Amino acid sequence: MNLTWIKTTLCAATAMVSLNTFAQDLIARQAPIDRKLKSVDSLALQKQIRVEQSLYPAFDIYPSWNTKQVHVYGDAIIPEKYVIDLTGFCMPTEQTKINDVFGYRPRRRRAHYGLDVKVYVGDTIRSAFDGKVRVVQNQGRRGYGKYIVIRHDNGLETIYGHLSKQLVKPDQLVKAGEPIGLGGNTGRSTGSHLHFETRFLGIAIDPALMFDFEKQDIVADTYTFEKNKKGNGGKGNLFYKVKKGDTLSRIAARQGVSVSQLCRLNHITRRTILRPGQVLRCS
Ligand SMILES: [Zn+2]
Repeated sequence: MNLTWIKTTLCAATAMVSLNTFAQDLIARQAPIDRKLKSVDSLALQKQIRVEQSLYPAFDIYPSWNTKQVHVYGDAIIPEKYVIDLTGFCMPTEQTKINDVFGYRPRRRRAHYGLDVKVYVGDTIRSAFDGKVRVVQNQGRRGYGKYIVIRHDNGLETIYGHLSKQLVKPDQLVKAGEPIGLGGNTGRSTGSHLHFETRFLGIAIDPALMFDFEKQDIVADTYTFEKNKKGNGGKGNLFYKVKKGDTLSRIAARQGVSVSQLCRLNHITRRTILRPGQVLRCS
């Protein structure tokens, strides 16, 4: 009897850990753990499960823990749907000005997987949720510059780029709101700002669908990740051709973006009259 079997059975039997069918499926498919237990003692098993879960946050959906690289999800199984709990959040910065939004940048012909928030060198940058610091690295003058990746209990990973100083170490447990770094202008950056990414199993989700920096609040208590939803990050339609009778809210709902995001992306307002045939940027 291996631990994988025991975990699946125990979870199903006692519902001690509230795992959905998908997560249970994942546990069943996890790499074999060849530690054998001498007797099927449920207390020992529960303790064992607690130990395993304490290894890193969202243990039931992430196949591994890597402190060197940002993107390491090759063997992850992406669920069709996953509800991410956003309560218990803290805004990473008090600054409210968005310098650049998530999505495709036609001018540079490349995707922008985060949100750029104006911050000043030395501004305190805080962890968005409770979690465990995964990566603390420096890409020098390239990319993120000095950056931090944190994995959270709700399944999200957040990335903080262009920092002037990192205040945490890999494997360190952090609380929501705990200072993790100082704002800066390192890496490929012109003018100090925070490059903030929210990822689920490596898939970039527009942070604006969860965090409203202007209001310094979350958009809703939960965000439902859907595997094929547009706007989750590069997988959706980049552009939409307006049809007769379309409204901004209907297009937004279909494309998986918010109305305000559509407005920002297309430099229009909620009152702009849409023309059939007009092409809108959607991510
Ligand atoms: Zn950026």
